[in-house]
Amino acid sequence: MSNAGYILRARAIEKTYTMGRTRLDVLRGVDLEVSEGEWVAVLGASGSGKSTLLHLLGGLDRPGGGAIEFRGSPLGTMGRAELDRYRAASVGFVFQFYHLLPELRVLQNVTLGAMVRHGRIGFRGETRRAAEARARELLEAFGLGNRLGHRPKELSGGERQRVAIARALVNDPPVLLADEPTGNLDRRTGESIVDAIEARRRAGGLTIVMVTHDERIAARADRVVRLVDGLVEPEGDPAGIVSVPAGSE
Ligand code: ADP
Ligand code: MG
Repeated sequence: MSNAGYILRARAIEKTYTMGRTRLDVLRGVDLEVSEGEWVAVLGASGSGKSTLLHLLGGLDRPGGGAIEFRGSPLGTMGRAELDRYRAASVGFVFQFYHLLPELRVLQNVTLGAMVRHGRIGFRGETRRAAEARARELLEAFGLGNRLGHRPKELSGGERQRVAIARALVNDPPVLLADEPTGNLDRRTGESIVDAIEARRRAGGLTIVMVTHDERIAARADRVVRLVDGLVEPEGDPAGIVSVPAGSE
């Protein structure tokens, strides 16, 4: 079957966690097709498997069943080196709690993202200076040009998240996977984070899969899907979800 136009394609994805004798079927046949340049928002109750799905899409974990393809290449048949390259160069990750290295300054945190570009630490074929230049450019675009020498603890939550986004984008990956990137921020700061991601998408055709609890943010996406009982329910037109009563998820 052709996968023309899909950058990511998940078919019949299953994931079961086993804890002792307890089996937890978190994903029970998830289908998700993401087009090049599309922004998909993923909604779902806490514990519905949103992070699990994102980790699988990013090659951080492997599904128990089904297949995930990146531009037609199944992740399941990639060797270790190829999968490392996929994680380092093709996807950028943003998490709710930033995951910055506290000892490193802002510029170093973002430059570090460039160091793992080839699936290993180092600057093969690229000087540190070039990587720093790209990091600096992104940080300036995110309004952090005067914070390059700060350490994470010297920044606000919104500033930390902008650093994390810069780190995720420093290798210019085609896909950004964001797991509740605004979950720890007030609404206004959260909106500004989404503005920064959106601007990046407009500038360079980034594809975004964003898990969020915030229906207002979801409504800005091209498409919204909802994880319910281990399956994906299409929501269709994001405008439609505005009518969902608060607290119904
Ligand atoms: P969400 O991101 O939607 O809140 P998660 O994908 O983090 O949900 O988790 C889905 C379910 O799987 C939760 O009930 C969680 O406790 C469980 N789970 C997640 N990761 C693991 C793991 N590594 N081992 C066992 N259970 C897990
Ligand atoms: Mg989660």
